[in-house]
Amino acid sequence: MMFLVLFLLTLEYRDDGLAMIPAANGPKMDKLRKQIGSVFKKEGLKITVTTNLVEVNFLDVTLNAVNGRYCPYRKPNDHPLYINAQSNHPPNIIKQLPKMITKRLSDISCDAEEFNKAKGAYEQALRSSGYDEKMEYIEKTSNPADSKVRRKRTRNIIWYNPPYSLNVTTNIGKKFLWLLAKHFPRGHRLNKIFNKNTVKLSYSCLPNVSTILNSTRSQKTVEEKEDRMCNCRNKAKCPISGECLKTAVVYEATLQTEETQYQYIGLTEHTFKARYNAHKSSFNNENQRLSTELSKKVWELKEQHVPYNLKWTILRHGQPYRGGMRACDLCLTEKLCILTSKHENLLNKRREILNKCRHMNKLLLKKCL
Ligand SMILES: [Zn+2]
Ligand SMILES: [Zn+2]
Repeated sequence: MMFLVLFLLTLEYRDDGLAMIPAANGPKMDKLRKQIGSVFKKEGLKITVTTNLVEVNFLDVTLNAVNGRYCPYRKPNDHPLYINAQSNHPPNIIKQLPKMITKRLSDISCDAEEFNKAKGAYEQALRSSGYDEKMEYIEKTSNPADSKVRRKRTRNIIWYNPPYSLNVTTNIGKKFLWLLAKHFPRGHRLNKIFNKNTVKLSYSCLPNVSTILNSTRSQKTVEEKEDRMCNCRNKAKCPISGECLKTAVVYEATLQTEETQYQYIGLTEHTFKARYNAHKSSFNNENQRLSTELSKKVWELKEQHVPYNLKWTILRHGQPYRGGMRACDLCLTEKLCILTSKHENLLNKRREILNKCRHMNKLLLKKCL
């Protein structure tokens, strides 16, 4: 006789595990339970082990170790609820839903008897959502051809998932594939990447109301986190008065010597702090001396033993470049700041205004070719 041993692993989240071992006497099982516990404890994890179970509900199946039977299981207050047959969803999802449920229920029932016992609630749920299909037990096939894992060559597929809507009469799929063939014909240098074998289309569903509500809620927590604008250990020593974690900013450095004051305008897509650290390292490592106009000036002053003082301020906030934008807001903002700067000793060269945006490069197709 076999006993089921139920594992309950308590980590940051909860997850259950199940194991089956030959039946043994009480003390032996107890010893085993303690052994498992100590293995987990060594790794700093907690586990609860329940032994000597004959029948167990695991996920959505009830398993019986004595008679080898299994059947679908649902928690007492869990009532199945499905999307309505009239709902604005891709037709094949609605068509496949009853089949999918029947298949799953057949898979977790050991025979037609258990299936028929369980199907009532599911059939009723389907009927109240507007489906009239009858659920019939699907025999398990023991055809070896089915279970044989066919070797498949993996292919990189680019999916296009437009949202589905009943109100759209245009055949989006057809139009899309037509455009693909038109713009990347055979012989085109990108045809290898974009052709009807590598680009596929499948409709996506839009999130339901509860998902939308939850996402705005989690967005809020992200914003709350973003409120933390400085992670300097000593807040008084923050290079930019408590705003060092701000991203996508145009900043100004003021280099003050006894006689003159120089200004340098720069931008960063990431946090100001990361950019600040890069500047700092360019002042300390001579091989980075030419990295910016500011570092050139700092090294010049260092060599002449002129004492200097550096102060940083944020001039503007911008939008970081995202694929599909026509211009890079951050680069344009920086250029505008350089152009309109009234400082006499601006370290930036006027020709910097002609520089091409660097942020677009990361999205280029060049890397695929
Ligand atoms: Zn700071
Ligand atoms: Zn840019």
